[in-house]
Amino acid sequence: MTVVCILAGHHGPKTGASYNGLDEWTLVRHDAGELFVALQRDGILTPMLEPYDDDPSEGRPILRAARWCKAHNADAVIEFHYNSHTSTTPTGHCVVSNKLTPFVTCMANALDVLPNKRRDTIINEGFILPRLVEPIPCVLLEPAFIFEACVVLPEWRAMLVSAVKEGLYKYFAGGE
Ligand SMILES: [Zn+2]
Repeated sequence: MTVVCILAGHHGPKTGASYNGLDEWTLVRHDAGELFVALQRDGILTPMLEPYDDDPSEGRPILRAARWCKAHNADAVIEFHYNSHTSTTPTGHCVVSNKLTPFVTCMANALDVLPNKRRDTIINEGFILPRLVEPIPCVLLEPAFIFEACVVLPEWRAMLVSAVKEGLYKYFAGGE
C-alpha cells in the first residue's frame, strides 16, 4: 500500500505567519486535512502529523518527525506550510527541498496549474528533513503567500489540493 506522510506545519499558539485575521496554521490545517481525505478516498494510507513544528532552533521536533515518517514506511513526505515571508517581492507558490530530485520536479510541475504568479523551486541546503528521511522523497510546500487574495478562495484551495494529489500520482507513476 502506498503511504504518504503529511506534516502539517505549525500548531496551537505557534500559528506561523498571519495576515488580515488569517493565520498559517488555519490554512495548513484545512488544506492538509483536505489532502488527507482526498488521498484516503483513493486508498492511500495517509498518516498526518500534527501538531508539528519545524523551527530549526528546535532540532528535536524534526528528528521526531523523521522517525515518524520512517516508522510509517512512507513512500513520500509532504510538509505543508504557507509562505511565511512578508517580502515585498512575493514569487507565488514554491516547492522547497535540499536537492533537485524527480519528486521535487514533479511536485513543482503539478503546482504550475495554480494561477498565483510564477513558481519557485527552492533548493535550500538548510532544509534538514529531506536529509533525515532519505531515501524517502520529501518536499516542503509553500503554496501561496498568506497575504495573497487567492488563499481565501475555496475554489483556489480545492485546486491546490488536487494539484498536490496529481503531483504525487504522477510521481508514483514514474513521470514528471
Ligand atoms: Zn510555516
